[in-house]
Order: sequence, then C-alpha cells, then structure tokens
Amino acid sequence: MDNEFKPALIIVDLQEDFCPPNGALAVAEGRSIAPTINNLLRLPFVKKIATKDFHPPDHVSFASNHLEPHNKPFTSFVTIPNPNNPNETHTSRLWPIHCVQGTPGAELIPELNTSLVDLVIEKGQDSRVEMYSAFEAPFRHPIVKEASSKLAQSLREAGVTDVFVVGLAMDYCVQSTAIDAVAEGFKTYVISEATRAVDSSEQSWRKTEKECDNAGVKFIALAGEELAKVRSMQDV
Ligand SMILES: [Zn+2]
Repeated sequence: MDNEFKPALIIVDLQEDFCPPNGALAVAEGRSIAPTINNLLRLPFVKKIATKDFHPPDHVSFASNHLEPHNKPFTSFVTIPNPNNPNETHTSRLWPIHCVQGTPGAELIPELNTSLVDLVIEKGQDSRVEMYSAFEAPFRHPIVKEASSKLAQSLREAGVTDVFVVGLAMDYCVQSTAIDAVAEGFKTYVISEATRAVDSSEQSWRKTEKECDNAGVKFIALAGEELAKVRSMQDV
C-alpha cells in the first residue's frame, strides 16, 4: 500500500448566503450538492475541513461600502491595495452584502453533516482585503499575515499529501482555494459533481477548468480513480 497518500477534504463556503432560496449571493443549485458532500465526509479522509466566508460589515467586497457609480453588485470592480505594500494591487469584483459575522446568512447550511467535520476555518475577516482562498488573501509581496488562515499549517500537521476541494463557488472560492493548495505543495483535485459556479455557463466552466489546470489543479469525477484510492483506505 501507499504510505504516502494522506487525503484531506476541504468543503468551501457551503453557507446560507450562497444557497437558494434565500441567499444574498445564491449560487444556482448550491444546496443540491450537500448529499454528495455528506457521502464524501463518510470516506476516510485524514482531515475534513469546512470553510466559512465570514465578513465584518465594513468589508471591502460589499458594493454598498463604495461610492457611486462604482458600487454595483456583480458588475463593479474595485482595486484593492496590499495593506502592507501600496504598490501591490488586486482588482476584485464587488458583491451584495453576504456572510456577515453573526448573521443567519453566514451559517453553514443545516443539510451539511457538520458532525463529521474536524475543523471550521473562517476567512475574509480582515475588512481591508478580499479573500476567496481559504489559505491567503491574494497578495504575495508580502503575504497579508493578518488575513492568513491556519489552514496550511493544519494540513501539514496532519501529514496531508492530497487535497480534495468541493463546495461553493467553483469559479471563485473553490478555484482560489484549490490553486493556493497547489502553491502550498499539495496534490489538489476539484470534484466536479460536488461544486457549483456563480456563472454556470459552459464557457465560464471551461475557462475556470483551464485556469485550474494551468495551475496544476485536476478536475475529477466522483467515480474516478482518485476517490477510488480514498475509498480503498477503508479496506486496509
Ligand atoms: Zn465574501
């Protein structure tokens, strides 16, 4: 057997505000992936982590925190500087108010079997920066330490080699989390049937898949060999 295979499952942002029918930023069919994810949670992943988008009310990603005319949810963009280096900037889309700390919209959906989750990571708590990735804000020169989660550290402490990413939304937080997982040195997969996109068009899905592929993230199917390897750990 392969002693070097230690898989982790990361469930990204399966929260009320990202799900129909009442979510402020609902992803079509977002709630429908919960049963598939609950089945994955029963597999012998060495670490099972759920993330939560968890913003203060003055968060930079809320369109309502910006001035006219550049304050339209979904269509306006903002250029955000690295708080520790104004020369590094990142242009980011603005959103409706969502996942505010302490509100019902920030809760994990009740369909998710959280009794099988080992750790919940809250992200996006620094009002100055957007944070799609569950690892880091999108700055590198330097990394914004105040915004970093302890996710990479938790995975390393558990000896994780491979990371399987699922959840919402495929074209934002799932993509960024998966790409950062590769950067942190993990073999990384996105499970196609267990994620949904903000832009669910075929064209957008292909674009995201291509960007992930270029970064070393592999899209896989539930029935593929990668998850068969996880399932086979139950038999040893
Ligand atoms: Zn957010």
